[in-house]
Amino acid sequence: MEAFSEDIKMYFYENRLKTFEGWPFEENCSCTPQNMAKAGFIHTPSDNCPDIAMCFFCLKELEGWEPDDDPEKEHKSHSAACQFIALKKKVEELNVEEFFKLQKERHKFQNIKSFNDDITKFEDAANRRRAEILKTAKGEE
Ligand SMILES: [Zn+2]
Repeated sequence: MEAFSEDIKMYFYENRLKTFEGWPFEENCSCTPQNMAKAGFIHTPSDNCPDIAMCFFCLKELEGWEPDDDPEKEHKSHSAACQFIALKKKVEELNVEEFFKLQKERHKFQNIKSFNDDITKFEDAANRRRAEILKTAKGEE
């Protein structure tokens, strides 16, 4: 049950909003923490990029936000397949059946993402190995 509630935590606005500590756009702009969280985003900053946000559902990451960017519009235009931003109801209003259908779709995005991460890791490892082989081959000349 613990793992389950952790997994669905970000379906709820308040939990997403809490992630926006240190978000660079607070006032007089469209992409406030409130609007970002409403549009499904969570704040996932790194050392170099303080303004990365990711949709908890489709895992689309967006950075380089401008004060006038509308989070909902940006989300829709960069991730047309995201069912969360396309939801007509609030999460609290979904019935169990609707929620599980949504959760199934979300897992597809997670699978694609972890698949792509694996591919990247494999390519990195293969490139390193090729470079080592090349070095060895040159050393033998
Ligand atoms: Zn999304």
